[in-house]
Amino acid sequence: GLTGRNIGWVLERTLPSTVRNILRQAGQIADRMGFKVYAAGGLVRDVLLGHENLDIDLVVEGDGILLALELGRAYNAKVRQHHQFGTAEVVFSDDFKIDVATARVEFYAYPAALPQVESSTLHQDLYRRDFTINAMAVALNEDSFGNLVDFFDGREDLQNHIVRVLHNLSFIEDPTRILRAIRFEQRYGFKIEPQTLKFLNESVRRGVLAKVSNDRLWDELKHILAETEAEGMLRRMEELGVWAYIFPRVNYWEVEPVLKDLPRSIRQISDWGMMVPSSGWLVYFIAVLHWSDAEIARENCAKYNLSKRQTEKVLAALKGWSSTVALIWKAPRHVKVSQLAKALLQMPRESYPMLLAILEEDELKERFRELLNIIKDSKPRINGKYIKQLGYRPGPVYREALDALWRERLDGNLRTEEDEQAFVRDYLARLTKRSE
Ligand code: ATP
Repeated sequence: GLTGRNIGWVLERTLPSTVRNILRQAGQIADRMGFKVYAAGGLVRDVLLGHENLDIDLVVEGDGILLALELGRAYNAKVRQHHQFGTAEVVFSDDFKIDVATARVEFYAYPAALPQVESSTLHQDLYRRDFTINAMAVALNEDSFGNLVDFFDGREDLQNHIVRVLHNLSFIEDPTRILRAIRFEQRYGFKIEPQTLKFLNESVRRGVLAKVSNDRLWDELKHILAETEAEGMLRRMEELGVWAYIFPRVNYWEVEPVLKDLPRSIRQISDWGMMVPSSGWLVYFIAVLHWSDAEIARENCAKYNLSKRQTEKVLAALKGWSSTVALIWKAPRHVKVSQLAKALLQMPRESYPMLLAILEEDELKERFRELLNIIKDSKPRINGKYIKQLGYRPGPVYREALDALWRERLDGNLRTEEDEQAFVRDYLARLTKRSE
C-alpha cells in the first residue's frame, strides 16, 4: 500500500537519538515551511531489517535547499548547496553528514490535481532508484511521522529476501546497478529475482558495462571491496560474466583460493590486535592482482586511477609475496628472525591478510603471528610526530623513514631514543636529497 503502515516505532528502536532528533527536526521545519519531507533509500531499508544506518537521505517536496539551510541553522551546521541539482549537504561539526534533495517538480502538472501531483513528485524520485528495497521512504512531517511510503512493494521484497529492479530497462539505463545488485544480494544473503536476473544477464551480454566510465565503476567497486562479504561478491562477478569488465586480463580462478580465505585472515589479524589496514578495499585489490604480471596489475591500477602510492603498494605486494612466504616456510631454522621481519616490513600492511591466506597451514600461520609480534615489540620509540617537528610535510616519506627505522631497530643497531632520532634525521636528509 501507499502509506499503509507506520514504522515510527522501528525508527525509535533502531536509530540513535541524535539521528532521531534530526529526523523530527526536519519534519518540524518542513511543517513550518509548508513542505513535505521524507527519509528515503538505504536508511529505510536497513531500519526495516533491524540494522542501524546513519546515512540520512532526505527528499523534500518543496525546496530542499531551503529546508537544508533551516536545518543547518537549527544545529549550527554547515550547508553545502548545489543549486543546479536542487540538493544540499548538511555537515555537522563531528563530520556527520546528511543529504537533502528536492523531489523533482512536474512543470506540466495541473493545479487542480495538486494533492496527486505532490505525491507523484516523490513517486518520481523513488522511481529513479535502483531496487525496490531501496525505493521506500518514510514521512517525517509531524502529523504523518513514520508513515511508510512503499509504491513498489519493497517491504515485501525485503521480507522475501529479493533484489528486484523497478523496470526492465534499469540495467541499460545505469549499468553500475549490475554491481549494486550483486552487492546487496551478497551483503544481505538475498536472491536476485529471476526476471531481474534475466535483465541483468541480457545487459551484461550486450556489453553495457564497457560503456560505463571507470570513475563510476570504481565508485561501486570500492564499495564492494570494502564489504565484509567482498569475497562472495567477487565470485558472483565471475559467475555473472561481469569480472572480465572489472578486472581485465585477470583470471578469477587463479586467485579464488586466496580470496576465499581472505575474510578469515582479515578477522584473524584483527583478532591478534595487529595492524588492521586503513583502506580495506586495498586488501582485496591486492589479493585480486597478486597472481598477475606487473604490467596487467599496473593496467588495472591505472584503470581505477589509483594514486602513485597505492599503485606502489600493489606492485610491492606482487613482487614480494612469494619470497616472503618462502622465507616464512624456511624459518625458523635457516633464517634470522630480523631478516624475516625486515621482509615483512617491506610488504604493505594491506598484503598481510593475503600472506596469511597463502600460508595455509596452522603452524605457518602461527609463525607469521610470532613475527608480527616481534615487529610490534621492536616498534621504534619515536613516531611521525618527531618527523613533523623536523618540519617535513606529512606524506609517504613518513612511512618510509619509520619502516627503515624499524628495520634498523630489528638489527639491534639503535639503543636509545637519541640513536633513533639521529637515524631518522640522517635518513630523511638523504631521502630528500635523492628526490631533488
Ligand atoms: P549503503 O548501505 O551501501 O550505504 P545505500 O543504499 O545507502 O547503501 P548509496 O550508494 O549510498 O547506497 O545510495 C543511496 C540511495 O540512492 C540508495 O538506497 C538508492 O536508493 C539510490 N541509488 C544509489 N545509486 C543508485 C543508482 N546507481 N541507481 C539508482 N539509485 C541509486
